[in-house]
Amino acid sequence: MFDTVLDLIFPPKCGFCQKINKEYLCKKCELKINYLKKDKIRRVKNEAYSYHLFAYEYKNEIRNKILDFKFNDKPELADTFAKLLLNNKKICRFLRCYDIIIPVPMYKKKQIIRGYNQTELIAQKLAEELHLEYVCALKKIKNTQTQSKLDAKDRENNVKDAYECMDVEKISNKKVVLFDDIFTTGSTVAECAKKLKGAFEISVLTVAKD
Ligand SMILES: [Zn+2]
Repeated sequence: MFDTVLDLIFPPKCGFCQKINKEYLCKKCELKINYLKKDKIRRVKNEAYSYHLFAYEYKNEIRNKILDFKFNDKPELADTFAKLLLNNKKICRFLRCYDIIIPVPMYKKKQIIRGYNQTELIAQKLAEELHLEYVCALKKIKNTQTQSKLDAKDRENNVKDAYECMDVEKISNKKVVLFDDIFTTGSTVAECAKKLKGAFEISVLTVAKD
């Protein structure tokens, strides 16, 4: 049964398959992604940031939906991805110790063509729910090639000096969560983290890891 009149006019739907469903995901879709759940917090051995947190493996239905979100004009999927992360107690507990969340930016022209930056949309929702400050501190200053077509070494070169910190004051001495949708070789987040000089601590959160 639906709770309100509003639910009758706009019945709640599963965020993935769009079938009428009270929860944000229906049982069928939940089953399709449950086995990909990882909720990992990895201590990272690099100088740029301390931990990498991710919720899912970048495979099958999670991969399909992230690609759908990015390339098929479906900004509404931000809600579902944010909820998937917010329902992960381990990740939320960890994030509550942080001050600010910074999305990995897109090159402006690319963002205008897409209409939105998927990492910004999710990060905004996480900030609201977890009471983190949402700060767009980074700017992408080079229109790089798409990372997915490159190998590890080329990915690193491709993003080198592609980002710039626009708000050094805001991040100074803060515990920062850097947010991206997918982690593959980690070259994008490492390059972004390097530019967040002056932060007290930086950790990286992604929806999925390849
Ligand atoms: Zn569904």
